Amino acid sequence: MSPHLAASIPAPVGELCDQLRRAGYRAWLVGGGLRDLLMQRSPKDWDLATDATPPEMKKVFRRVIPTGIAHGTVTVLHRGEPYEVTTLRGEGAYSDGRRPDSVYFVRNIEDDLARRDFTVNAIAYDPLTDRLIDPFGGLQDMRARRLRTVGSAEERFGEDGLRVLRAARFVATLAFDLDPATEAGIAPALRSFECVSRERVRDEWLKAMAAEQPSRAFEVMRRTGILTVTCPELMKQVGCAQNRYHAYDVWGHSMACMDACGSGPIHRVAGLLHDIGKPQTRALSDKTQDFTFYNHEAVGAEMADDWLREYRFSNDERRRVVQLVRHHLICYSSDWTDAAVRRFIKRVGDDHLEDLLALGRADVQAKGRPVEEELRLLIELEERIATVRAAGSAMGVRDLTVSGKDVIRHLNIRPGPLVGRVLDALLERVLDDPELNQKEALLELSEKIVEREGEGPDG
Ligand code: ATP
Ligand code: MG
Repeated sequence: MSPHLAASIPAPVGELCDQLRRAGYRAWLVGGGLRDLLMQRSPKDWDLATDATPPEMKKVFRRVIPTGIAHGTVTVLHRGEPYEVTTLRGEGAYSDGRRPDSVYFVRNIEDDLARRDFTVNAIAYDPLTDRLIDPFGGLQDMRARRLRTVGSAEERFGEDGLRVLRAARFVATLAFDLDPATEAGIAPALRSFECVSRERVRDEWLKAMAAEQPSRAFEVMRRTGILTVTCPELMKQVGCAQNRYHAYDVWGHSMACMDACGSGPIHRVAGLLHDIGKPQTRALSDKTQDFTFYNHEAVGAEMADDWLREYRFSNDERRRVVQLVRHHLICYSSDWTDAAVRRFIKRVGDDHLEDLLALGRADVQAKGRPVEEELRLLIELEERIATVRAAGSAMGVRDLTVSGKDVIRHLNIRPGPLVGRVLDALLERVLDDPELNQKEALLELSEKIVEREGEGPDG
């Protein structure tokens, strides 16, 4: 198809095929690597298929890791890089909707392609003969930007529940449309989808987040019922009207916000979940005759925390998202004092500030109406944060000129929670008045704080 295909295959991949051929086997480029190459995108990895069995591959290649021997997959290390090489195979029935009951090796590449999920993923290229093997019309679908299952959608989705989510993900990452018959096959397969592990769902969501517009995947999930299975709270946003400052319902706003959060999958998860507490907290104000969402950021942070835990996000990812959800309501106005700016920095946490401001911008842009004034205020806040930071004033306990040890020694108290409380109280005063951050002054102040705590020096 493409005269440049042979030329665009990296040398090491060609060498692997060549080694197999010299040993009397055949080898094809398959899967996502070939698909991306055909779509003129840079492949992130290369999948190879061969008629050699794993024991035979062990004889051909020097360094072979048996990654999935039972499924015919080994990882070959070549010039320091790993390559997945899989023996041509077919699949038996799937009785658990998760993995085939049996895997058997086949002789023909066509038989191997037939077990694959989507037509654009079921193309093979033989670098020796420079021939593309495309039994299911994958190239045509690629040109039409259409995602279609190999064979009956209902059957293919029913066999392996993960495929419905892969469908949603590819609609976003490839910017394809879902073929209507393929889409219609999703709802009947949701029972199989329910068997898919939380970790695999998380991985697919994170992969979808790498798309230019992850909302494409989430719209598929909404339409087909996938989202009702994975995150019913998000489904409640659909049709949930906002206050008059918004053009979209909460769902449309979340989609636009996620798409506008461009800097990494975790930011996008935060964009997706930032208003998850809104449907639950919505109330109609008598005074304004408009909707309010009182405390939705705190309610939403709890909900996000539960959901991210359930879906096995790492502790670090979960904390970052929850912190962003909790503080996403940035109510900055120009009359904030510098002390208020310092308190804001302390509350949000230095490490989360950039992320929060980025989410704030996306949140504003996703209102679907002119937002110049809101953006201006956010930029002003950013500038004021920079100024306050440049002044070097204390923003956390560790910036104080006294340490826990100093406090213990000066007050003659034992190490314990009281020390932390004293330091927190000192920081509160320093946030108001940075000039106070001097050792003598703080030690003197610590005496008063302890007196007020009602516990005199002990020990
Ligand atoms: P990416 O690597 O970008 O996530 P991919 O298409 O390469 O996408 P992989 O999971 O790496 O996906 O799988 C490689 C190939 O194996 C796919 O292109 C497809 O042909 C086949 N495949 C993977 N998962 C499935 C599945 N659940 N059902 C059927 N075929 C699959
Ligand atoms: Mg791949």
